[in-house]
Amino acid sequence: MNEKPKTIAVNKKTTMNSFKLEADSDMLTKRGIKKSLIHKFVTYCRKKSPWIMHMSSGGCNGCSIEIAACIGPKFDVERFGMVSKELPRHADIILIEGPMTTKLKNRVLDIYNKTPEPKVVVAIGTCPMSNGIYFDCYNVNGPLDRFIPVDVYVPGCPPKPEAIIHGIVQALEKLDEKA
Ligand code: SF4
Repeated sequence: MNEKPKTIAVNKKTTMNSFKLEADSDMLTKRGIKKSLIHKFVTYCRKKSPWIMHMSSGGCNGCSIEIAACIGPKFDVERFGMVSKELPRHADIILIEGPMTTKLKNRVLDIYNKTPEPKVVVAIGTCPMSNGIYFDCYNVNGPLDRFIPVDVYVPGCPPKPEAIIHGIVQALEKLDEKA
């Protein structure tokens, strides 16, 4: 039986990153540089080199292998400036794969809350969209968008690396809109 989804409390506290950014922009404003110009520059940098965090909320790890292929030498997303990060506080984009299992649900919410705004969530594969092959499992609470807002969906079981890269490019547009 699926659990009733809980309302999440999205953490809007100022994070270390945005605090530092604000302090830097205050310093630059005092030197006569316009805040709008700084904001435009920061948004440009985020879009040119997004930092990406990947996590699994359960599943078979098939999607993890395709995500790893994106980072590997064949597809090499780093040539587009994308960097893989381990900490949510450093991330602009979160890639989530797998169905929302009971065991990892709180971990996903925690990571979502710890990622500073503006952030974009990309659901990788069929599992976070509809629970996929885990549909109706006793320990699955998904789909993912019952718990957190999802900006981009990449369908497939698993999706190809090209589809994942396309999803990240769509995420960059969302990041630009949110900035
Ligand atoms: S979408 Fe398919 S490949 Fe990806 S985690 Fe789910 S079952 Fe595995």
